[in-house]
Amino acid sequence: MSYLVLARKWRPQTFDDMTGQEHIVRTIANAIKMDRVAHAYLFCGPRGVGKTTAARLLAKALNCEQGPTASPCGTCRACIEITSGTSVDVAEIDGASNNGVENVREIRENAKYLPQRDRHKIYIIDEVHMLSGAAFNALLKTLEEPPGHVKFIFATTEAHKLPDTILSRCQRHNFRRIPAARMLQRLKQICEAEGAGISDRSLSLVVRQSEGGMRDALSLLDQVLASCGAHPTDESVAEALGAIDRTVVQDFAEALVRKDARKVLERVEEIFNRGLDLKRLAEELALQLRHLFVTKAVGEAPAELAESEQKALLALAQEADSAQLARLFDIVHGCVWDVARAAQPRLALEMALLKAIQLSPSSSIPDLLAKVDRLAQGLTAGDGAAKSQSGASGGRSGPSNFRV
Ligand SMILES: [Zn+2]
Repeated sequence: MSYLVLARKWRPQTFDDMTGQEHIVRTIANAIKMDRVAHAYLFCGPRGVGKTTAARLLAKALNCEQGPTASPCGTCRACIEITSGTSVDVAEIDGASNNGVENVREIRENAKYLPQRDRHKIYIIDEVHMLSGAAFNALLKTLEEPPGHVKFIFATTEAHKLPDTILSRCQRHNFRRIPAARMLQRLKQICEAEGAGISDRSLSLVVRQSEGGMRDALSLLDQVLASCGAHPTDESVAEALGAIDRTVVQDFAEALVRKDARKVLERVEEIFNRGLDLKRLAEELALQLRHLFVTKAVGEAPAELAESEQKALLALAQEADSAQLARLFDIVHGCVWDVARAAQPRLALEMALLKAIQLSPSSSIPDLLAKVDRLAQGLTAGDGAAKSQSGASGGRSGPSNFRV
């Protein structure tokens, strides 16, 4: 049997399996139970978060031989055919390539006839925002008075491109990006079932690169397994994803907080020599400093990171001061664009990082004020004493007190 990519192999087959879209699953399951299924649904949201999967599940829920039911059996003819995309009564149409008025007219003509075998005729139109204006007008007529046996499920990443007349005739559901912690959990389950030993640290890198889309996450996981085998090191995973190893990024953050200019320059050279993208490094570093600042502000590290990373962030946040972190972030985040368009990205990055080290205060304003206060008190208290003391000791302590 040919290899089935993870995204297809692990496509949810029940509503309960859908990660991160519980708010939608609940509404739809209730509608089915109460026999209040709308005649047109609009599923909106970023790509790869489960819109088409949910559309197929809804089709199965409506047409399952045991249904209509919120938990379709998955084994009857209707369920099996919908899963494989061969059902006679469920049409999956790609709106991008069937966007003309003649395509919609064909749907309208067909919709008049009763379903061939199952309960409903269901039209799933993906990327529905790509339809032409005339096609939308033709569709509108059907949406206004749909035959009872017809259901429409539209999916789109760009709901704002749909005419209001269409929007107002659909029941709209907004799909969310899948929260990082949930996605990490799901990837761990899948890795376990697949017999792959990938560390949490590497999986959270996959999660971050997928930006909340499960399909992208699973494609990246495929890529990792294909290029590094089932038990890859963190470094090889980072390399396979074209990313920079998290430990390197954390090292950078430490060097910046500790004002270790030598280490920063050495690390930049290392990355440069390995041929990695310096703009990417600047972006990763800005993100790491953001995590550090958040950790400092809320007292705990972001949950989507691996445990070891969280520990490292917490420890480093203790060493740093909020004002310093804010400044570091400003400078590093500000340099991403400069590094991207610089004739010599390495120089731009080095200068920005050195500036960050030199210019970030190591004390906050309240700390500074407290120091000034102490200094002022010392001066008043020392007024009388200074006369009796030798000038030399006063001269030594003065400037050192001013160092901040
Ligand atoms: Zn079934």
